[in-house]
This record gives sequence, structure tokens and C-alpha cells, in this order.
Amino acid sequence: MIRKHFINNLVLQIYEQLPILQFPIRMNDVYKLILNCKYMSYQKFAYINHCSIGDVIAICNSKSGCTHYDPNKNRYLILLNLSKTDNNYGRQRWTAAHEIGHIQCKHHLIMALDKIAENGFYQITNPEYEAEADYFAATLLAPFPLFEILQIKSVFDLQNTFGISSEAACVRYKEYLQWKKNHRKTAWERKIINCYKRKLNSL
Ligand SMILES: [Zn+2]
Repeated sequence: MIRKHFINNLVLQIYEQLPILQFPIRMNDVYKLILNCKYMSYQKFAYINHCSIGDVIAICNSKSGCTHYDPNKNRYLILLNLSKTDNNYGRQRWTAAHEIGHIQCKHHLIMALDKIAENGFYQITNPEYEAEADYFAATLLAPFPLFEILQIKSVFDLQNTFGISSEAACVRYKEYLQWKKNHRKTAWERKIINCYKRKLNSL
């Protein structure tokens, strides 16, 4: 089961710590909050290691991105494919948020205990972990509580405001309509809205 409550609070903590809370969320600001995490493009990684982008895709087992984890030093390195053909702007942002989701949910730590990846490149295939990382990415990039304030009324608004791909925006908009139908305002929602307004006023 996805730990929605836990993940909602992780996103709130990040919003609280961000110097500026504006959308699309600046992923560089989010990386900076995770002190034991660095980020590098596939392109730079290939250059440093004298290998091809194809090699990096093979190591990561992904065309879009992956995370390397060193359990001894407790350090993360997120690798992201910045090629526009393999991974457009919206998808790059989603991949980054998804990988940060795995880190924040401590999926690598759990897997390291099982010594799953000898080379430190964790190919996470556990469907529950994947669902949690996607839930984190969706909530971080496009939080439902702010849809009204940000006047999100269509898939197009969603895509433009939050900087996600049209495919992701379609899915998210459907989820939003469903969410709106049967929910009551929670403390978490109020905190997200208050955080957004407070940061907006302090600009
Ligand atoms: Zn994943």
C-alpha cells in the first residue's frame, strides 16, 4: 500500500524548506535540500567515464534516469538523461522527482540491506516502491491543494503551470477530478496552502 500520508508530509517538508515556492518547481532547489545527494546528467557521466550514452543507459537500465547509492557513505547520485529525443523537458522533471521520491522514501536503504545491487545501481522494480515514487513525483510537481489557487482548469493549464509532459498532465487531471469528487479538506492541505501563500507574500 502506498504510504500517502507519509509522502504528503515529505512534500510539505520540502515546500517549507524551499527558498522560493513557485511553479514549475525548480528541481535544482530541491536537489540542494538533500545534502547527501548529487545530480549528474547521463551526458556528463559518459564524458567522465569515457563511455557512450548507450553504455550509461545500459548501466542504469533506463533511458530516462536512475540513482546510484553508496551504502557505506550513505550518498546518492541521481543520473538523468538530458537528451531531448529520449527524454523531453517534462519527462526529465518527472524522472528527477521520481528518483528523489525513492531517496526520500528510503527505498535504496531497504534494498541495500538485502545487498541487491553490487555495483550500487539500484534497478528498482518493486511495484509498490515505483508507485510510491510516482505518487511523490505527482504530489511534489503538481499538488492538488494548489490547483484552485493556481487556476488549473484543464490538462493544458496543468502541463504549463507545473512543467510536466502532456501524458503526465492527462493522468494527473483525471486523478484530480476524482480527488475533488470525494474528499474533505485535511490539515495537510491547509498547511500546503498556507505555506504557498506565506512564501508568495515574502517574495
Ligand atoms: Zn523508480
